[in-house]
Amino acid sequence: MLIQRMTKFLVVYLDSFMYFRPANFIKRLFPYLIWNFSEEDVGRSVFITFDDGPTPEITPWVLDVLDKYDAKATFFCLGKNIELYPEIFQEVVRRGHAVGNHSYSHQKGWGMSLSRYIEDYNFAETFISTNLLRPPYARFTPRQIKVLSERYKIIMWDILTHDYNRAISRKRCLRAVTKNARPGSIIVFHDSKKSEKNLRYALPHALEFLKKEGYQCRRIEQ
Ligand SMILES: [Zn+2]
Repeated sequence: MLIQRMTKFLVVYLDSFMYFRPANFIKRLFPYLIWNFSEEDVGRSVFITFDDGPTPEITPWVLDVLDKYDAKATFFCLGKNIELYPEIFQEVVRRGHAVGNHSYSHQKGWGMSLSRYIEDYNFAETFISTNLLRPPYARFTPRQIKVLSERYKIIMWDILTHDYNRAISRKRCLRAVTKNARPGSIIVFHDSKKSEKNLRYALPHALEFLKKEGYQCRRIEQ
């Protein structure tokens, strides 16, 4: 119980400091999570990720923008959206991007039994085969995440653009990238309707910035 409360506190803490790198003590508390890669391993690369798709109004546009900048990315897809739009999902794979499991129905782990929580990822596997996973909302218990880590690489982030938040300006979304990108960064965008306004501005500008700064945008290897 105490551990659960501590976890909730820490994740809320993490949320409030969204533009900053997670503190080392948080990283130590969740050793199963990948927040970024080391420059030693990946050189001057960054890893752009997209959550919550595929979405017919957004994902095909995202794929074209990525192609324009010769960038590869990783898409953490929802099983329910792959079920609805299998041809868009296939196109993501065909264009050479990586895909990860973002669960079937986008539940928060808190207050959910271990078996129900895991079941949501298992069901997504009906539609996607991958060893990459990102938990929705970063709301999970240490036990849930430990069980998932036995089968998956769990990919978090060090740069959250908050593109889905309509109260945040599109320039602020872009600034999250331009101020914080460094070799090995994992950046979160969303290919969802909610993010459309911010994404259509921030994504091409971020790619332009990263290119100018000599970064290579790579997919996370499965
Ligand atoms: Zn999500």
